[in-house]
Amino acid sequence: MIEDEVQEQIESLADVLSQAKHAIALTGAGISVESGIPAFRGEGGLWEKYPADEYATYSGFLTNPLKQWAFFKELYTTLSDAAPNPAHYALAELERLGMLKSIITQNIDNLHQRAGSKRVLEFHGTTQKLECMSCGAVLPFSEEAIAAPVPTCRCGGVLKPMIVLFGEQIADDSLRNAQNEALLCDIMLVIGTSAQVVPASMLPVIAKSRGAMILEMNVERTLLSNDVADVSLLGSASLRLPRVVELVSDGIIPSGA
Ligand SMILES: [Zn+2]
Repeated sequence: MIEDEVQEQIESLADVLSQAKHAIALTGAGISVESGIPAFRGEGGLWEKYPADEYATYSGFLTNPLKQWAFFKELYTTLSDAAPNPAHYALAELERLGMLKSIITQNIDNLHQRAGSKRVLEFHGTTQKLECMSCGAVLPFSEEAIAAPVPTCRCGGVLKPMIVLFGEQIADDSLRNAQNEALLCDIMLVIGTSAQVVPASMLPVIAKSRGAMILEMNVERTLLSNDVADVSLLGSASLRLPRVVELVSDGIIPSGA
């Protein structure tokens, strides 16, 4: 794509965002690849070493928490080595400017929060909290809390990261809050996800059914590009979003707020 076209897309995105009343973002693994978090699927992904059906299922955790904790510990190491990239920072800045109301993320990497985003709906849970399987106590994550081969609560119960494992239900309030945002928004930026896994895949569809504009930013075309997205900007979000922020905050595109 020639640079003029890219510039035009960035300007129109800035324009659309500045006029939105309730813009939100839906993000997935693609936004964090440039932060050093490999996609779980595919070559070199975590699932290659730790097949998901063995290491990341709820039933597997109940029967063999030791095995699954080996995987979780590697996951925590991967996450602590990662840092937010310009796309995460740009979304945080858009929120600060009042142009983005919330982020619904399918990621469990905490990078939106580390970049400064405040209203982050973590659709697949969080790695930053641990829950006791016996008494239900919730503890903040720390290196110390997960030091044992199978981390346990004071009560002796097994601790589990509060992430949604395969075969585990998404928490009712996460689902409800995300659906509410999808119903409320007039712009949904879909970034780094092909949104094909139910129920996250329903969110752009819900938003569109209520008249929202769906803007997709992915490195390649997805099923969304064909059926759901009004606009598909193909390419890196970390290159484009900061330029959108620049336009908006320089006042070149006047803020509608
Ligand atoms: Zn407990």
